[in-house]
Amino acid sequence: MPETMTSRERVLAALRGDPVDRTPVVNPTSVATVELMDLVDAPFPDANRDPELMAALAATGHTELGFDSVMPVFSIIQESSALGARIQWEQKDNWPTVKMTQPIYRDPADIHVRPDVLEHADTQCVLEAIRILRRRFGDEVAIIGKSMGPWSQAYHTFGVENFLLMSNDDEARTRRVLDALKDLTVDYANMQLEAGADAITLPDHATGDLVSGEYYHRYLEDMHREFAERIAGPIILHICWRTVDRMPYIANTGMAAFHFDSKNAPAESMAAVDGRIRLVGNVNNPETLFSKGVAEVKAQVMANLEAGVQMVGPECACPLQTPIENLRAIPEAVREWSERRAPHA
Ligand SMILES: [Zn+2]
Repeated sequence: MPETMTSRERVLAALRGDPVDRTPVVNPTSVATVELMDLVDAPFPDANRDPELMAALAATGHTELGFDSVMPVFSIIQESSALGARIQWEQKDNWPTVKMTQPIYRDPADIHVRPDVLEHADTQCVLEAIRILRRRFGDEVAIIGKSMGPWSQAYHTFGVENFLLMSNDDEARTRRVLDALKDLTVDYANMQLEAGADAITLPDHATGDLVSGEYYHRYLEDMHREFAERIAGPIILHICWRTVDRMPYIANTGMAAFHFDSKNAPAESMAAVDGRIRLVGNVNNPETLFSKGVAEVKAQVMANLEAGVQMVGPECACPLQTPIENLRAIPEAVREWSERRAPHA
């Protein structure tokens, strides 16, 4: 089938649930690798703090890998840094992380989000990178931003264990934390859309290994519905691990898409969301993209396409040592599949 849409048109149509000329290859999270950093001389940690380098590295997702989207927010710490969390910036071969052993909050009353918090250099860097990418690519490619949800932000500022204990013991206190952090998520998402992003990935790590689907329903479903109303563009919710038990709740939020993990089979996930939200995923990172070959990657892409998953890409941020050929195999597999299905050439 001849391709009749630009990458950007294709991604935006898929996010809306409209017809596409072929399934778009989308990365709601990072596809940055050490090889790509070398190719454009934009290494970590600087590529997380300098907008020119951030944009140069993000662009390789389209120019080198052939994805239909570019995504400049490689880490999960830009807003945490702005809030004053202690960041370990690491080196080229590692993502920056929050030092969660030194939490900045202990009580909901400790949370003071200053009105100018997003003026911080580490949050502004993303906005500038988005503007650079928009100037460079025009309407050719979809630009995806990222704004961390309040559940994730609570891990970063209270410490994972402290926050999980709170969520177990004290529902009212937990809600005060989430309420105090939620405007930051909305404001940062809207600023990125204004800077030129087409869609926003919203990671909110109520992950299957840490909390139940019931927790998602109790604490996050309504808040995520509120995000879908207050954020002025398509949202891609990202939650790792096994999530089939919360997918029916996630499908109620009105968000555009859910970025799902390979611990959930494509067909059972499509059944769980029942057409009420689009899915994007779910090629496995550690076992397939990182340590297997092109044939195994293509087989996973095909499994998603056969199940009707609307957008295909890695399940989460790729390991930085992922081989480029394996990432390139994703768009190759999608093209091979759609050519095979074309009625007549
Ligand atoms: Zn993830």
